[in-house]
Amino acid sequence: MPLLGERPAPSPAPGEGSSGQPLPGYAKVSTERIAAAVSRSRTIDVAVVGGGIVGLACAWELRKRGLCVTLIERGRPARESTWAAAGIMAAHHYGAGPGPLFDLLRRSLAAYPAFLEQVGADAVDWSAEGILAVARTAEDIAELTSRMSWLTDAGYPAELLTPWELRALEPSCTGPIEAATLFPADASLDPRPLAAALEQAVRSAGVEVLTDSPATSIQVTNSRVTGVSLRDRSIAAPAVILAAGAWCAGLAPGFRLPVRPCKGQMCAVRAEGPRRAINFPEGVIVSRADGRVALGATQEDVGFDAQIDADAIRQVHGDAAALVPGLAGAEIVETWMGFRPQSADGFPVIGPTPVEGLVVATGHFTKGIALAPVTAELVADLVCDGRLDPLLTPFGPDRFA
Ligand SMILES: Cc1cc2nc3c(=O)[nH]c(=O)nc-3n(C[C@H](O)[C@H](O)[C@H](O)COP(=O)(O)OP(=O)(O)OC[C@H]3O[C@@H](n4cnc5c(N)ncnc54)[C@H](O)[C@@H]3O)c2cc1C
Repeated sequence: MPLLGERPAPSPAPGEGSSGQPLPGYAKVSTERIAAAVSRSRTIDVAVVGGGIVGLACAWELRKRGLCVTLIERGRPARESTWAAAGIMAAHHYGAGPGPLFDLLRRSLAAYPAFLEQVGADAVDWSAEGILAVARTAEDIAELTSRMSWLTDAGYPAELLTPWELRALEPSCTGPIEAATLFPADASLDPRPLAAALEQAVRSAGVEVLTDSPATSIQVTNSRVTGVSLRDRSIAAPAVILAAGAWCAGLAPGFRLPVRPCKGQMCAVRAEGPRRAINFPEGVIVSRADGRVALGATQEDVGFDAQIDADAIRQVHGDAAALVPGLAGAEIVETWMGFRPQSADGFPVIGPTPVEGLVVATGHFTKGIALAPVTAELVADLVCDGRLDPLLTPFGPDRFA
């Protein structure tokens, strides 16, 4: 049953077929027409709590399908984990294996180019030249070899490179590297301009964006969601998406949502970096179009401690410079941190809850930028059509009940 089952089915937004699938050329349809339709609407269909990449993407997709959406953000949109992300867009990572997360990531990455086009995010340093993973120890090589093996079995391309081939491809990688792999289907981008474009698209499409408006609780009557309480008022809504990242646990009304912050510290240097993003066991190196190179990141279980620690930044810088020695003397031009939303088992938490009409979308941990389009699509399937995509079955919050 659709979560909005008691309401008439929403009419498709401009540019969409009745299935809710965008028609070719959707991106070219004026968002002002959507906004005009919303201004005639008097009620809210869905409230989205949290304005990071996940909340923004959900708001965008729900609005695209014709719903009247209000997004509730505690501060300014996309200033938390989304702001902090490196922008690696890979369907795998160090130590990963085949399974539902790989399937979810793969579908999301396939959707990314169209997602960027639709939200008008054309200045995001999108680089589709692939990502490199490098190995320095026997243990790293064993991990990389095993990862390549299951990825190629799954039809995900991976090319093993000798250190010489790596240097031919990326002359700045002169550190003591034993082996490397190019994953040509991986990509990278800068999450900050992406989030800015997405926020703009969401607003232009007619989503009401409430900033400086912390949700204090989710309202529930007879096990059904009825809206969201803010400090000074309430927003009535028959469906609510809880997408408040690392802060979701305290907002879950009466069920267990074990999501906690995993602090990540990063820095940027001004230097000639590698063209392709580089992934290694301790972190990532991602060159930006403005001449900066983003280096990261720590993974710390320290609660919401937002302090940036000089030793941690030195370590991040040093780990990257060990691979790309040209980064060693480069000036650090920015340091930052963010709280990744990490669930108790490290996997995303996306799906319906025991509270009818309340859907959660959090726990994206190190992959929230990469997973945003598929999360939004599958959340919208749930809300608009009552359809739980089989891809979501392993990620439901019921696994923590
Ligand atoms: C250092 C670092 C590097 C990363 N690198 C990558 C990467 O390379 N690739 C990748 O895919 N992912 C990466 N990630 C992970 C990615 O950033 C996250 O998974 C993703 O941003 C999570 O998005 P979100 O919208 O769930 O959370 P957030 O971006 O944290 O957004 C949550 C929002 O909810 C709001 N909120 C909280 N409480 C309330 C409330 N009570 N009421 C209203 N609003 C509220 C917050 O203000 C915030 O805006 C990285 C993360 C970090 C920290």
